[in-house]
Amino acid sequence: MRLDADARKWLVDLTFGRVRFDEQMSRHTSFRVGGPAEAFVEPETSDELSALVAGLAGRGIPYLVVGGGTNLIVADAGISGVVIRLKPGKPEILIENISSSQSRVTVMAGTSLRLFCGHVIRKGLKGMNFALGIPGTVGGAIRMNAGTALGWISDVLESVTVLYPSGQQETIGRNSLSFSYRKLMLPRRTCEDSFFHQTIIVSGRFSLVRASSTDLKQDAREILKNRKCRQPATLPSAGCIFKNPSIGKTAGELIDLCGLKGLKIGGAEVSAKHANFIVNTGSAVAADILSLMDCVRQTVFERFNVSLEPEVIVIGN
Ligand SMILES: Cc1cc2nc3c(=O)[nH]c(=O)nc-3n(C[C@H](O)[C@H](O)[C@H](O)COP(=O)(O)OP(=O)(O)OC[C@H]3O[C@@H](n4cnc5c(N)ncnc54)[C@H](O)[C@@H]3O)c2cc1C
Repeated sequence: MRLDADARKWLVDLTFGRVRFDEQMSRHTSFRVGGPAEAFVEPETSDELSALVAGLAGRGIPYLVVGGGTNLIVADAGISGVVIRLKPGKPEILIENISSSQSRVTVMAGTSLRLFCGHVIRKGLKGMNFALGIPGTVGGAIRMNAGTALGWISDVLESVTVLYPSGQQETIGRNSLSFSYRKLMLPRRTCEDSFFHQTIIVSGRFSLVRASSTDLKQDAREILKNRKCRQPATLPSAGCIFKNPSIGKTAGELIDLCGLKGLKIGGAEVSAKHANFIVNTGSAVAADILSLMDCVRQTVFERFNVSLEPEVIVIGN
């Protein structure tokens, strides 16, 4: 659909002119690819976010929420409707000590995961070191149940506060949340959540334990050093492209065994450093990355009879 003149005027008024029309999503994804979003809004306050979401849902205009755009491939043709980006502004982190050994930490979803991890390490709180080096926002990490071999967000998340398309907020405890590999399923409210009108995570509450800040910093240095050795850090990517199969070899091992490191389509290349990373060598468009993914999947399937499932989220027309 195209936004009509009334919808455009409403967006301009609601955001005091800050809405951007036909905004290139390549500016907002770590892969540096993606065509235009019809409209792009970064709400300044939670009231503005609620009014925006309720207004869009009421008008039947699709919207999509993004954080750091570090797990996305946006199609070259772009996105219909409105992209809402939760701004990674200054970190909003509230720490409550609930016992001598445990703290409860509430973080706004737009906060950068890197800043959150650094903050709790400095405060001597343990539990987030597994996430060191994962880019993006806290909201994106919760939605993706981000993690590494050292742990997942679901290990430490106590509750999330969400904003429904109606504009209502609710806090949901971890017993009502269901987590799987790189996915958090929120309980569905009848007629509320849909592909076009998402429930938005506005904050998360984490349960962390007290520890020595010096030990946490030492541990952090090791973790970051290991990541740097294993992953291509200098070229744009979206991290691991495929999920690891539930049994047997990792996706990276399977791709490597097929001899696909260095395989290139257009500006997209299977990283020579980590076979489960596709990197943008400079001139890639989304179509190059998607074609390369197809080629990798097909080759791995033909050789090992394993169907690799994308870990990245593909969005757009
Ligand atoms: C170099 C590199 C290394 C990486 N390493 C790892 C790793 O080790 N482990 C790992 O798990 N991931 C890794 N990733 C992938 C990515 O960083 C994580 O998935 C990250 O948590 C995504 O956060 P984001 O804010 O960028 O989300 P986005 O990419 O913006 O969005 C991802 C999904 O979450 C949804 N979403 C975002 N914010 C919200 C919100 N507030 N409410 C509801 N839905 C929301 C979006 O609609 C989309 O579906 C890596 C990526 C890169 C580029």
